[in-house]
Amino acid sequence: MSGIYIHIPFCKQACHYCDFHFSTSLKSKTTLVNYITKEIELRKKEFPNNINSLYLGGGTPSLLTNNELSIIFNSLKQVIDISSLKEVTIEVNPEDVNREKLNFLKSIGVNRLSIGVQSTNDKVLKWMNRIHDKQQVLLSLKLAKEYEFENFSIDFIYGTPPFLNRDYEKEISTLIEHLPSHISSYHLTIEKGTYFGHLENKKELENIEDQKSEQEFLWLSKRLESSGYNHYEISNFSLAGKQSFHNSNYWKQLPYIGFGPGAHSFLKGKRRWNVSNNAQYIKRVGTKESYFEDEKLSSLDLVNETIMLGLRTKDGFDLDKIYSNLSRNKQKILNTKIQKLIQEDLLTLKENNIFMNKKKWLLSEYAARELFTV
Ligand code: SF4
Repeated sequence: MSGIYIHIPFCKQACHYCDFHFSTSLKSKTTLVNYITKEIELRKKEFPNNINSLYLGGGTPSLLTNNELSIIFNSLKQVIDISSLKEVTIEVNPEDVNREKLNFLKSIGVNRLSIGVQSTNDKVLKWMNRIHDKQQVLLSLKLAKEYEFENFSIDFIYGTPPFLNRDYEKEISTLIEHLPSHISSYHLTIEKGTYFGHLENKKELENIEDQKSEQEFLWLSKRLESSGYNHYEISNFSLAGKQSFHNSNYWKQLPYIGFGPGAHSFLKGKRRWNVSNNAQYIKRVGTKESYFEDEKLSSLDLVNETIMLGLRTKDGFDLDKIYSNLSRNKQKILNTKIQKLIQEDLLTLKENNIFMNKKKWLLSEYAARELFTV
């Protein structure tokens, strides 16, 4: 299976934690949409086979007008049959969700919403510089149900500083009352170049302690699992049969093709990433100058990536598959490292699969790095 990703690099305002590629100047929105369709046209022979998902992410794709969305969908229809895809997702922000928008999204074949909720606490939303409030969150969830989006996901952020004094039980129970089929729950990370990064540099941001992060992570996992959600990836939960095709393709290292500024692709063992600058993207796609960079992954890069992505998922990675790509000597080295992490209670080996112990799941990047050195 394979997927398509379209990056819409515009937001009304910058959230204080966000380091994705976006612009808050919306002036070039329609022009950029037209250049995305040019990129689709230029790369129509590169589309992978067996596409099962289309994902519009950002940025804030729900900022696009109906006309701009139609331009993108019509362009894709020249290359693929959108109605045959299993999953067609668009990221929406709560303040953009209304009856007219949902009607339109259904009419063009969108069958899954990913709603950027983050919190139901107005104080927390304001602190993050989210544009919406709790009322808008609740209305968007109600409308998603009313418009029979059986499949909708919400994003939620935990791991915020203690002074916010959040009541997670209250927030989570309010959200799951609306039965989202999928929940992506991320620990707040402080990235360089963001407003929070700037506060951290000035030592003006209170950090959460590791022990508290772990407590919140384990509490969320238990709370959501007891409500019927499968914790299938470190940051993702789903009701039965509602795992995200888009995300799962990525974790399984299946091919995907990405369009728009900053979008990544993974095709025929090559990673490629478009320039993360709207004006440059428009200029270079227009003049057919190179607007991307790429790199061919070595078989060792692919092994390391399989380990890293596998440790993020509940099922882990298949040891035989990894060994089949390594020399005897490297197999031995990897085996020693695995045994050490099993001793440290980070990893478990079961039926030839290696996976993270849930209590230590937040350390999956560390564990992957330890195993990488093969
Ligand atoms: S979190 Fe989403 S809405 Fe906020 S700035 Fe980043 S991309 Fe835009």
